[in-house]
Amino acid sequence: MTESDLLLTYERIKEPFFTKRRFKHADLVKLLEKCSFQKEEIGESFEGRAIFKIKLGTGKKQVLLWSQMHGNEATATMAIFDILNFFADSSNSFVEDILTGLTLHFVPMLNPDGAERFTRRTAQQIDMNRDALALVCPESKLLKKLQDEIKPAFSFNLHDQNVRYSAGATKNQAAISFLATAYNEATDWNENRTRAMQVICEMNAILQQIIPDKVGRFSDEFEPRAFGDNIQKWGSSLILIESGGYGTDHEKMYLRKLNFLIILKALESINKQTYKRRELVDYNAIPTNQKCLFDLLIKNVKMDGEKVDIGINKDEVNIDNATNYEFKSVVEDIGDMSTYWGIEEFDATGFELRPLAKFSEILTSYNVKKEDMGRLEFEKKANFALMKNGELCHLVLNGEFVAVPS
Ligand SMILES: [Zn+2]
Repeated sequence: MTESDLLLTYERIKEPFFTKRRFKHADLVKLLEKCSFQKEEIGESFEGRAIFKIKLGTGKKQVLLWSQMHGNEATATMAIFDILNFFADSSNSFVEDILTGLTLHFVPMLNPDGAERFTRRTAQQIDMNRDALALVCPESKLLKKLQDEIKPAFSFNLHDQNVRYSAGATKNQAAISFLATAYNEATDWNENRTRAMQVICEMNAILQQIIPDKVGRFSDEFEPRAFGDNIQKWGSSLILIESGGYGTDHEKMYLRKLNFLIILKALESINKQTYKRRELVDYNAIPTNQKCLFDLLIKNVKMDGEKVDIGINKDEVNIDNATNYEFKSVVEDIGDMSTYWGIEEFDATGFELRPLAKFSEILTSYNVKKEDMGRLEFEKKANFALMKNGELCHLVLNGEFVAVPS
């Protein structure tokens, strides 16, 4: 199936339950109840939530894919259920070839306790991805055991990354990033790591057609405690995929679709070994992830009589028992931000920055607290007004432009 066939099919088979990234283990259990593939409870999290593995296919080559070892990185978990729906629904040579050539082992939501709170860490407050050697977490022990028992030819380590990474030192948000993890300090290339790199190049070639210049590559500095690095060392070709940001797609539904596409095409390539056509030069051409984006960059605004730029970020804060979130803005930097970009930018040339206190009478509908109406301050909430020729033109509340009340 071509990329466009797969994307068309996606709209029909995507798992309708998922409309947002915050879902819980109980939701996953319900979805698995209607899944007809071979399911196995492989163990429990620290707080006793069951962790499942779904097995498909009869091929000799084993592939292990897991998601959400960081509890608040849920994009690929949604994509895994889309992929399971796809395999359940489709009977064609694309599917048959994959399922006779490969045996697929999916472990969605490896850190269900973290998912419950929508936090990175486990219930033991440990970053599981620094626990591959110590194996303090029961979830880490499970992953190590799977690795030892299955001995996968390829492993997919599926994460989400900060939405403010850019692909190279550019204004392009890194929508998807990859890494063929290093297996030693020298970051050498053996056959194993090379195969991971080649499959990444296959996926990158597809993405460059769809989201040109929005694909990044992580630094391959060796992290001796991480699963990715160790699994590469233990002999499986380890592919890290990180879903980043894509404009205002905060729930990452588009990136979920791209995960569906590239994982399926990667499986096809692994099965047919077409990845062998790729060279290290293709991999090195993927720009490295850089941190030079703010969520909102106000440029050239007059503040206390001088022209400055203001970099503002909006961090997600969990609410309603981590089923939803709100943004908490912070003034990240003030001054010359000419080496940075904004996911959203506003050129405030000719505008003067003023505290909200000056306009408190007209702000009653916005319920702004008095303490949030003061002077703009570094590392505080981004609340301010922009004036031009003595007239109020724009209001920014908690890092968002809002309408000026008439
Ligand atoms: Zn992660």
